Amino acid sequence: MLQQTQVKTVIPYFNNFVKKIPNLKALSQSNEKKVLKLWEGLGYYNRAKNLHKTSKILIKKYNGQIPESFLKLKELPGIGDYTANILLALIHNQSRVALDSNVKRVLSRLFNINVGDAVNLFKTERNGDLAEALMEFGALICKPKNPRCHECKLKKMCTYYVSESKIGFKKKIKIESKSYDIFCYLKKNKKQVALTKNNDLGFLKKFNLPKIKEASKKNKNWKFLCNYKNSISNKKLNINLYYKFSSKIPSEFNWYSLNQSSEFIPSFTKKIFKQISHLY
Ligand code: SF4
Repeated sequence: MLQQTQVKTVIPYFNNFVKKIPNLKALSQSNEKKVLKLWEGLGYYNRAKNLHKTSKILIKKYNGQIPESFLKLKELPGIGDYTANILLALIHNQSRVALDSNVKRVLSRLFNINVGDAVNLFKTERNGDLAEALMEFGALICKPKNPRCHECKLKKMCTYYVSESKIGFKKKIKIESKSYDIFCYLKKNKKQVALTKNNDLGFLKKFNLPKIKEASKKNKNWKFLCNYKNSISNKKLNINLYYKFSSKIPSEFNWYSLNQSSEFIPSFTKKIFKQISHLY
C-alpha cells in the first residue's frame, strides 16, 4: 500500500484491510472483488491484484511462508528486485539493501557514489533493522530538501556534509501529459451509465470505464459536457467529457448505477460519475 502513496493516506486503508482480511490465508480465500473494494481510492490497483494472486501462491506452493530465495520471490506477481530485497532483509534477516529513493539518496550523500543495483556496504547481524533504519533515516533526517545535517550522527563521515559543493540527488519523475475524449452512454431517468472493461489504456487496463479514446475533434454524435484535468500515476490527463442518453449500448458495455455499486469502481471513473450526475 505504501508504494507511491503517503503513510497518512495508507493508515485508515491498512487498518480497515487487516480488520476485514486479517491474515494470509484469509487473503488467499477472499475473492478479488472484495480485495479491490477494500483498496478502492488508493489507486495503482494492480498492487492489490498482485497481492491477492501472491497470497494464493504462497498458501498453495509455500505452505504460507515467504520463500528465502531471491529468485523464487521474484517469480511471485508484483515482486521486483526492491520488494524481494526488502522482504529477505526484514523477514529472513538476510544481508540485503533495498534501494528505494530514500536509501539511494542517503548512500549517495554519505559515500559520494552512484548507487548501482546492488550494494553491500554494511556488516551487521541485524539486517532487517538496518534496511528499515536506512529508509527511516532518509525520510526523517537525510531528507531530500534541507537535510538535518546539524543533528546527524553521521556528519563526520558524510561526503555531502564535508564537501563544499554539495552533492545533489534528484529523483527524476517524467510527467506525461495526454488528452482523452470520454463518451458516456446514459440511461434516462435511471441515473445509470454504461461501462466496459474493454479498454487498452495502460494505466487502467481492464477496469470499469466509459468509452475512452485519445482526443480528436470528430465527436459529432455526442454532446459535450465539460473539460477537466485529472492526474493519475505519473500522467496529467486533460479530459473532454461527452454524453448521450440512449437505451441501446454496445455488447461489451454494462449499466452501472451512479449512486452505489457492489463492484469495484476506480476513482478515475468516480470523477466521471460526479460530472455526469449534474445531468440528472
Ligand atoms: S550529514 Fe546531512 S547529508 Fe550527510 S547523512 Fe547526515 S543528514 Fe544526510
